[in-house]
Amino acid sequence: MDFQGTWTPLGRATAHPAILRVDSNRVEILWDGATDAITIPRTDVVLTTPIGKTNRRLRVPNYGQFEMADSPMLRDAFPEAHRGFEHWVDWIERRKMAILAGVVITASSVLAFLFFGVPYLADRIARHMPHSLEVQVSDQTMSLLNAIALKPTKVPKDQQDRLRKQFDAMVAGEPRADQMKLGFASAPNVGPNAFALPDGRLTVTDELLTAVKGDDAQVLAVLAHEAGHHVHYHGMRSSLEDLGIVGVLSFFLGDVTGTSVLAALPPALMRSRFSRGHETEADDYAFMLLRKRSISPAKFADALTAIIGYRKPSETASDTAEDEIGREIEENLSFLSSHPAPQERIRRAREAAE
Ligand SMILES: [Zn+2]
Repeated sequence: MDFQGTWTPLGRATAHPAILRVDSNRVEILWDGATDAITIPRTDVVLTTPIGKTNRRLRVPNYGQFEMADSPMLRDAFPEAHRGFEHWVDWIERRKMAILAGVVITASSVLAFLFFGVPYLADRIARHMPHSLEVQVSDQTMSLLNAIALKPTKVPKDQQDRLRKQFDAMVAGEPRADQMKLGFASAPNVGPNAFALPDGRLTVTDELLTAVKGDDAQVLAVLAHEAGHHVHYHGMRSSLEDLGIVGVLSFFLGDVTGTSVLAALPPALMRSRFSRGHETEADDYAFMLLRKRSISPAKFADALTAIIGYRKPSETASDTAEDEIGREIEENLSFLSSHPAPQERIRRAREAAE
């Protein structure tokens, strides 16, 4: 088998037109009109692997290099040089699958981290957060709420004291009970409601007391649910989850007190809506606690019914920006969550009362 090409003897710059002749045992290179020739055992030469459409080179150690255009016939002439190459192609092909698998695994890991890792880390961080940080975040959230939705309470001092005493007795001995403090606020644009902040302060609105017509047990039923959120760290967990990767990772990467995450937490807290799972967990906790204190969970159902039946005075009038803010808070940071549906929660409370 003959191939046309050029021959460059070792140490020379000039390439000579030449012929490469290949037989079963040896290769022969003839140049300068076949006046010069060398013969070498096949096993001594090295053929370069083809890269795109570039020329192929046959390296002859100690003699020089023969260069020629790539040709399918080279595969017949030097099958051993191509076996390796085909292996390599195979390897790349397999590698393609490996690369693809890598991409899929990476993408699934990122998704898994978002769906499972972030909530997991949010839970761990929330449970280990210093109380001073919880207080700081709650102070800021309370300032925001005071600025946009809450007004000073009009609940008489003796009624406040009575409810506080009953609430303290209800949560006594429960996890994190020492942190829980009951407060009151008027919220005409939010309506009957209650909420818990991450440091354990619980706020009940004057409108809720109006809606339940002074039935302390119904107020306690609502507060038992809020206590459940505090016991399970729901507020901080939801806000951290809401901030996502940034929220959880900043607690690992450096000094949190110096980062903007702390500033982002209060708005996140107001924005984040407890998940259906958190609400159900808080409801179940409430039913358990109420039964433990010999208060029927039916009071919980009664309270929800009263809240749903309550009409804000402003609801009959035209919609204001305050109403909008009120609805926003009602939807998110509130006892009356739209999920699970109130009807379902009432049904579960009545079941728990049986
Ligand atoms: Zn809730």
